[in-house]
Amino acid sequence: MGRPRSYLLTFGLAGILLLLTSCQATLPREDGRLRIVATTSIVADLARQLGGEAVEVTALMGPGIDPHLYRASEGDVTRMQQADLVLYNGLHLEGKMGDVFERMRALGRPSLAIAECVPDSLLLRASGYGGVYDPHVWMDVRRWQYAARCVAETLARMDTARATFYRNRLTAYLAELEATDAYVRRQSATLPPDRRVLITSHDAFRYFGEAYGWEVHGLLGVSTAAEAGTADVQALAEFIVARRVPAIFVESSVPERYLRALQEAVAARGFSVRLAGPLYSDALGDPGTPAGTYTGMIRTNIDTIVEALRSIATP
Ligand SMILES: [Zn+2]
Repeated sequence: MGRPRSYLLTFGLAGILLLLTSCQATLPREDGRLRIVATTSIVADLARQLGGEAVEVTALMGPGIDPHLYRASEGDVTRMQQADLVLYNGLHLEGKMGDVFERMRALGRPSLAIAECVPDSLLLRASGYGGVYDPHVWMDVRRWQYAARCVAETLARMDTARATFYRNRLTAYLAELEATDAYVRRQSATLPPDRRVLITSHDAFRYFGEAYGWEVHGLLGVSTAAEAGTADVQALAEFIVARRVPAIFVESSVPERYLRALQEAVAARGFSVRLAGPLYSDALGDPGTPAGTYTGMIRTNIDTIVEALRSIATP
C-alpha cells in the first residue's frame, strides 16, 4: 500500500500560489503571529519549541488521547481551515483523519506531515499492515531532528521576516535534542543488554528499540485500532516467563485492560510480572509536568523503564 506523501508544502505550483495568496491574506495578523493547528500534543510541542512567541499553537489532542482512534470534530475542521499552517504526524498515525487532511489539501491549505520529513531509508515497515511505515518516529530522538529541521524551515519560508529567528531556535533545539538522545543512551547502558526488554500495550517503541539497543514487543500492533487476539496474549506471556521479565508497561493513551489480561496469562503460568508506567507513547503528559514537553517525555520514559526493569524478577 503506498502512502500519500504531503512532503513539505508540496501542492504543486498552483498550491504554492494559493499558499502565497493565503499568506498575504492572513499575514501579518494583528499580533503578527502565525496560527498553527497541530494534531497531537507531541507535534504541537515541536511547533512551540521552534516558533516560540512568534506562533500561536493549538493542539487538537490533549494528554491521554490516542491519535490512532481520534476523529476530528467539526470544530477541529474549522480550526484547521482557519489556520495559517496545519501540522500533523502523518504515516497514518492519525488513522481516522485521512479524509480531513485530503480536504485541507484540496482547499490549498498549507499542511505538513512531519514524520514524512524523515528519509525513507530511516523508516521502519510496520509488519501486518500491508507494508506501510511505522509512524512512531519521535521515539528515536535523532529521527525527530529531521522533523525539527522541516518545521523550522517551513516557518522560515512562511514568515520570511523572522527566518533568522526560527533558524536560531532550531540550532538551540537541536542541541537540546542531542543532549536528550545522549541521556537515553546513558540510561539504557545502565542495564545489561539481556535485561533491555521493553513490553508495552502497543508497538510504539520500535524506533526506540532500534536506536537505543532494546528488544521491544507490543501486545497490540503499531495501531491500537485492532484488539489483541488470544494467541498474541499467550505468546507474549510465554516470552515473559521464559525471559523472566519483571515488568510490563502501561501507556498513558491506551487502556490498561490489555496489559491486565497479559499479566493474568503470566500469573496462570506461575510467574509474576508487574504493571509499571505509565509511559508516554503517543501523547505528552499534562502541561507543566515533567512529561509535558517532548524532551521531558523522553527522559521520563527512560527513567521509568530503567527503574522498573532494574528490579530482579521473582518467580
Ligand atoms: Zn501509536
